[in-house]
Amino acid sequence: MHPDVQSLLAVQREDLEIYALEERLAALAPRLAALEKERLRAAQDLERAVKSVATEESRHREAQHRSDANRQLVERSQRAYESVTSPREANAAMIQLEQTKRMVDDSEREATQIQGRINEMRHHIADLEAALADVEHRQTDARAALDKERAEIEAQIAADRSKRDQTAKSVPRSMLAKYDKVRTRRRAETVFPLRGTSCSACDTAIPTQRRAAMAATGSLEMCEGCGALLYAGE
Ligand SMILES: [Zn+2]
Repeated sequence: MHPDVQSLLAVQREDLEIYALEERLAALAPRLAALEKERLRAAQDLERAVKSVATEESRHREAQHRSDANRQLVERSQRAYESVTSPREANAAMIQLEQTKRMVDDSEREATQIQGRINEMRHHIADLEAALADVEHRQTDARAALDKERAEIEAQIAADRSKRDQTAKSVPRSMLAKYDKVRTRRRAETVFPLRGTSCSACDTAIPTQRRAAMAATGSLEMCEGCGALLYAGE
């Protein structure tokens, strides 16, 4: 095998290691996204519950205002009843008084019902707050582990790239350029040996003349079947 090809194969081994590390790095993203999704779901449940209780609190204030207004009506009806001068007026004033008392009862019952719902909702909010805290606590270790893994892979990639650049210096510039052009497209193994008279990646037969050139000069020839770069193996 031509020494240039040997050097190029060393570069390719390092490139394949870097690709594998880059794949491991990319695989971390969905794991982080899954953690984020889980936390977001808990946070959104809590946010919705807090909004709902605020709505109920506002309805409760309105019901209390209605009760206050209705109690004033009762007082007025009471005074009107006490100042009547005829049995007919007394009858009408009594009806009025009873009606306003019913209105007070209704609005107070409504306020009590709303308060009951608010109490339940506050318990629910406490549960949701605990659930969110629990998710965040559980995720602390998972996130730290992910961060550590990412940092390790990134450091390894940086080290491998600088090693690769050193190794690449022993490959002729034009051969390296040809290899890099095909490699960046394939992002996988790019250089293959001939096997017998064929491409060892796809078994396409290579014409005799081209095989002779590869053997004589150590040049790389592109396989017309699969686009891999071929070298004379022996
Ligand atoms: Zn091929």
